[in-house]
Amino acid sequence: MHTTPLEQPRCSVDAGGMQHYHLPRMATYLLTWNPKNYPWYDLHDCISRIKRNKACRYSWSCGSNKRIRKGDRLFLIRLGKEPRGIMASGWATSGVYPDIHWDEAKAIEGKRALYIKVRFDAILNPEKHIFPLSRLREGIYRRMHWTPQSSGVTISDEVAEQLEKDWSRFLSAIGLETKAISFPEEAEVGETFIEGAKKRIVVNAYERDSRAREACIRHYGLSCAVCGFNFEEAFGRIGKGYIHVHHIKPLSEIGGEYELDPIEDLRPICPNCHAMIHQRKPAYSIEELREILKRRR
Ligand SMILES: [Zn+2]
Ligand SMILES: [Zn+2]
Repeated sequence: MHTTPLEQPRCSVDAGGMQHYHLPRMATYLLTWNPKNYPWYDLHDCISRIKRNKACRYSWSCGSNKRIRKGDRLFLIRLGKEPRGIMASGWATSGVYPDIHWDEAKAIEGKRALYIKVRFDAILNPEKHIFPLSRLREGIYRRMHWTPQSSGVTISDEVAEQLEKDWSRFLSAIGLETKAISFPEEAEVGETFIEGAKKRIVVNAYERDSRAREACIRHYGLSCAVCGFNFEEAFGRIGKGYIHVHHIKPLSEIGGEYELDPIEDLRPICPNCHAMIHQRKPAYSIEELREILKRRR
């Protein structure tokens, strides 16, 4: 039988506030909207749905990008005539799939385009507010080309991290917030995703922070805090430096202003113990799991 390594769900989708440094991470992509090419008839309806905590879902063209996966982060930029800039954020709730082309003329010719399903967590009325393109021409944002020909361009982790921070500041400055938490009917996304989504933005900034991981390992070493397993001892060279880092603070205790303390909040833990510690929600404590393990031995 072919066995694959134990894997938890994608980072930060876990209500336990886990950090999985060795698992596939969420990626961030830029979707585009040019009103000249595609009228968004129910934009205002969608804005008010989000205000009322209702789900707002669309299929959105993703250009030729086939890599987008469920759970990836998405930002939508309005291009063409001013106002131009970031006007929405959301999450991919599907992988990429082909469907009838969004451009009517091409659809008539029988052409198809690639789409992802997106669930928006914030949409601005661009006539009133927009995170302007001019701001995306400053500082770290200059690393990225913000007016691409098509949707689906990757936003690098560093840029995405900054954008996430600035976007959330921008939203709170105009009295809005992202409403990722508010869609209980989104069964397809999975319960843990919804529970985790609220804090995901906050936590994710730390997940990308390899310094936090390093600080944790410097303090606690590379052996599992529960069972003591050490990958280098067991596997030699190929196990060197390998360990998961588990976030012990329950997600419910993480507030908006939460600052990660790598020594207080993180523990090195082997993938097996990591999987077991998250068998309960909220997760077991390190001590509880140690006890369970001891009793069985
Ligand atoms: Zn964990
Ligand atoms: Zn372990």
